[in-house]
Amino acid sequence: MNLYLNKSEYFYEMENVCRLFFPHERFEKSSESFAEADIRCVFSSCDGGVAVDCMVLYNGRKYEIKEICPYNNNVREEEISMARALYALFSQITGIQPKWGVLTGVRPGKLYSSIYHESGNWEQTEDYMNNRLLVAKDKLSLCRATYLAESKALEKSKPNSFSLYISIPFCPTRCSYCSFVSHSVEKTQKLVPQYVNLLCEELKDVAHIANEQSLRLKTIYWGGGTPTQLSAEQLDAVMTVIEDAFDLSDLLEYTVEGGRPDTITTEKLLVLKKHNVDRLSINPQTMHNEILNIIGRRHTAEQVIEAFRMAREAGFDNINMDVIAGLPGDDVDGFCDTLQQLLALQPENITVHTLSIKRSSFLTERGEIASVPDVESVEQMLAHASDMLSSHGFAPYYLYRQSKMLGNQENVGWSKHGKDCLYNIYMMNELHTVLSAGAGGVTRLKAPHGGQIERIFNYKYPYEYIERFDTLLERKKGIGEFYETYKI
Ligand code: SF4
Repeated sequence: MNLYLNKSEYFYEMENVCRLFFPHERFEKSSESFAEADIRCVFSSCDGGVAVDCMVLYNGRKYEIKEICPYNNNVREEEISMARALYALFSQITGIQPKWGVLTGVRPGKLYSSIYHESGNWEQTEDYMNNRLLVAKDKLSLCRATYLAESKALEKSKPNSFSLYISIPFCPTRCSYCSFVSHSVEKTQKLVPQYVNLLCEELKDVAHIANEQSLRLKTIYWGGGTPTQLSAEQLDAVMTVIEDAFDLSDLLEYTVEGGRPDTITTEKLLVLKKHNVDRLSINPQTMHNEILNIIGRRHTAEQVIEAFRMAREAGFDNINMDVIAGLPGDDVDGFCDTLQQLLALQPENITVHTLSIKRSSFLTERGEIASVPDVESVEQMLAHASDMLSSHGFAPYYLYRQSKMLGNQENVGWSKHGKDCLYNIYMMNELHTVLSAGAGGVTRLKAPHGGQIERIFNYKYPYEYIERFDTLLERKKGIGEFYETYKI
């Protein structure tokens, strides 16, 4: 589809709104050729402020609408007016009304919280998000619940607090929906020992900078990938470095995302326990073996139950389990059955993801999208999840979105009282600095008394990480430089 816009600064948002309704379509800018464009947005001055005239040519029919932006000279509001006009036209054409309205960002909770801070009033915040941004009421309830969880987490964070993220970008096999930089260990196994050695070096370096800047470590999160893909000895080695290099006296939470249950052993669990890991994630995604097979995970539902049992036996009393709504081959009953089986295990956290269809995933490359449930079914799955989890004493505590999620939905972390994952809240809402180590890690530096965020990127792939390790350490000096400008 060709897009025309006479205010090029809004083009990115125009494309994003188009994608909400046509996720698999390619969009091209045709700023030179108004007549050839399938979708046009034209801004002009008018008595009431600024008018945006939108027109869509679709299946030989022409759809038009005019929206007046009532807020003069407000760039953000002009952009919202354009998004609203497109939303109205596309809803008319497709019959779809995305529940997040014209919001296209990954952090709706962050927006909710900034609007609330400005207005200081729930009703005004939610009126604006509902009436102006077209966000459905049930999504606003999610925002409010996660905002309250955020407020509690914020009380535990100080201007010099930070979290530590450790990336282990290796997995036993690649899930069909994955676009994450995760190298199948079959292919990259030989890199793991060298990767672990360098990871230890990087952690010592990061700890040195953090100590120099008097930063206080609040939470640790091992993610990936599949951290428990490392051997018990490798986990022990890295965790020992962390203990020796960082001051852990303020630590509130220590999470390891075990991920695949087939990589979890009692020996590894005992290593985690020895190093005071107090939160573990065991991720089934579904409890149906035929679907696990379809999505390329080489484990069974029985292995999930066994890994959970082993974790409890090893003393883990805070366990998260991830599920995905919208997996190929799944349906509403199957999804509810998965949830029912997880609830029977009584974990403390359940994270409900919505499938996101990424261009670089096997799912797209192999053309398996046809077996993915339709958006109405996904909506029902999420509605059932909300009812089932609420009635079992879970509450939503963090939420985020990704591009190309089925039905433009969201991922929500649900937890039992007092079991919110602090790292998830700090990281997703950008409440304090996250220092990251390992391939693919992104360090997010948050100004101690302000909202400014700076990022330092590690190399994505393990082989790049290994080959260009010295350059990476150079980049890390930016952490110290950042804090020097914001003396605590
Ligand atoms: S476990 Fe996660 S990171 Fe690993 S292949 Fe699957 S989706 Fe990707």
